[in-house]
Amino acid sequence: MMRHYKAYCFDLDGTMYRGSEPIQEAVDFVAACQAEGKGTYFITNNAALTRTAQQKKLANFGVNTEVDFIMNSATTLARYCKQHFEGAHVMMIGEEGLREALELENIHITTTNPDVVLMGLDRQVTYNKLADACLAIRNGAHFLGTNSDIKFPTEKGLVPANGSFLKLMEVATDTKPLIVGKPEPHMLEFIRQQGMYEKEDMILIGDNYDTDIMAGIRYGIDTAYVATGVTPMEEVLKKAQQPTYLLNSLADWLK
Ligand SMILES: [Mg+2]
Repeated sequence: MMRHYKAYCFDLDGTMYRGSEPIQEAVDFVAACQAEGKGTYFITNNAALTRTAQQKKLANFGVNTEVDFIMNSATTLARYCKQHFEGAHVMMIGEEGLREALELENIHITTTNPDVVLMGLDRQVTYNKLADACLAIRNGAHFLGTNSDIKFPTEKGLVPANGSFLKLMEVATDTKPLIVGKPEPHMLEFIRQQGMYEKEDMILIGDNYDTDIMAGIRYGIDTAYVATGVTPMEEVLKKAQQPTYLLNSLADWLK
């Protein structure tokens, strides 16, 4: 078993599970890491679920974790906002996951005259919400987003994700949002700070080359690509910057 890291940072969809199906090799590998006392962290661009809901979903698959070890793009955005815009009044477009993350950081949420507009996936979004956010950004509010994923898979096929809405707003406001989700390195930096790790103690394990593997490469930690999700192995092999490890599944590391 690959056991020399102190912090194993697992992507969720495509790495730990596919929709509502667990990936058993990954579940077993997490249990093996935890039995050895390793730090196991779960990192996701999904900002719609609260961390408690995410924890329950993992528990149903046999993965046990404290919420503090779940890092999503909503939590990351809330912490980033707190650090960089202390005391700001914030307008949010997003779901319960983002609202809860902002409330946990005691961030003041408003619907009028915001200093900052934060945008995550909102499946109840309306024209009026987008128009209000657009006007606020045009009036000088900072514009930040949880993640730039353009689409995500459902049982029926691919549907718009937050990145599609950020593009719409970018065009409407002539302003590029600052984005905190993978492939940006903010989640990994918060994990490093939380566990007081060195970068060489950390490894990122994920199925998506463009978000997971690139986040690890940009941040400067080791990466393990697993061929259990979105990016096919053939495609990864063609990339100029290679992950540290290429695995068919985490079963390769259980031996
Ligand atoms: Mg994934």
